[in-house]
Amino acid sequence: MQTFNPELCYLNNTLQRGKRVVVENGFIVEIGEGDNSDKGLYLPGFVNAHSHAFQRGLRGRGEAFPAGANSFWGWREEMYRLVNEVASTSFKSWCLSAFQEMRNAGITTVGEFHYLHHEEQFDYAFDDIVIEAAKEVGIRLVLLHASYQHAGIGMPLSEEQKRFNTQDFDKWKTQIETISTRISESELCSLGLVAHSIRAVEQEAITQIADLAYHMGLPLHLHVEEQQKEIQQSLDAYSKTPMRFLCDEIEISPLVTAVHCTHTAEADMEEWLTRGGNVCICPLTEANLADGICDVPRIVRSEGVISLGTDSNARISMLEEMRLLEYVQRLYRQERGVCINSEGDMASYLVDIATKNGARTLGVKAGSIETGKLADFVVIDTEHQQLQGVTEEHLLAALCCGCDNSVIIKTIIGGH
Ligand SMILES: [Zn+2]
Repeated sequence: MQTFNPELCYLNNTLQRGKRVVVENGFIVEIGEGDNSDKGLYLPGFVNAHSHAFQRGLRGRGEAFPAGANSFWGWREEMYRLVNEVASTSFKSWCLSAFQEMRNAGITTVGEFHYLHHEEQFDYAFDDIVIEAAKEVGIRLVLLHASYQHAGIGMPLSEEQKRFNTQDFDKWKTQIETISTRISESELCSLGLVAHSIRAVEQEAITQIADLAYHMGLPLHLHVEEQQKEIQQSLDAYSKTPMRFLCDEIEISPLVTAVHCTHTAEADMEEWLTRGGNVCICPLTEANLADGICDVPRIVRSEGVISLGTDSNARISMLEEMRLLEYVQRLYRQERGVCINSEGDMASYLVDIATKNGARTLGVKAGSIETGKLADFVVIDTEHQQLQGVTEEHLLAALCCGCDNSVIIKTIIGGH
């Protein structure tokens, strides 16, 4: 049993003093009166709903433009160069770096959208490495295991993409079962399923994967409409957008998440949200890759569930992801206060996105400080220079607008 006496604690969307949080077997079992003896502000640990840890190895690469400006597709060539260089030792070291930086950024759970599977042909060697790396760092991992079948609709995998290959659906399913058994022994690891995107997975396989996730009660994640080209390919091949295809063909639930939705049509988005689907946005990566700007106000108006991901891990900071989600909209719309809850509160809304919504997206019992939830916390130094002179009333907003990772004292995961 562990007991925490946070000086300040984020409970029921308010900051409260003098609480005592009792933890048993990793879960919060009681919240009562405490003595303020633990310094700092305790927030639920941040949940990073979308990461490709190996892309940490790309940091600083692909940022020179001798032939002039390029786009997402130029970046992807650099990423494929990295994919071809990677060996198990470098793969592990990037995973370790990414996960350690995540903890330093207050992240207690990561959804690792994992599609770089093979060291040699079909060995799935990198799957175990992701799990090992997360375990060594002590971060909670939801291994979102991805299917990846072709280069584009009706196009065979290119040489660079061979390490992603899950063309043999039965073998992929067997691997899922193997991992599922292994993971069940680990307290800090769980599983989710992924169809990489409409461009990389066959229609029939997408519906099969969605069925499998639904029947296993697992989260399902997909990249959706990050790029205009993906939408055009889908329209050419299927006469419908990727999102329209998903709405027509799969069971949508609060465990199903579309990542990006940068260019999603209004009617498709409305249906996705109404049927309980989540949207994961990755502001820093989407900016870095010049993806475009998601129509966030529409999701906010529909009370849709947005979560955040560090995606390419070119920079790992949940505070910056939260800030940029709002700031991109301010720049684009010349309006302030786009990401707000029904009380008009931006800071609580952004904190919820980074905690509660991420937890729903990954199907973990975390994301809020309440009885029955996992004891995952991020502790903020309220005496840090970046928060100097800030009153309690403005503390969360100051955190969202004015702080970097240096205000984070520590993360606590499952009470440790
Ligand atoms: Zn991604």
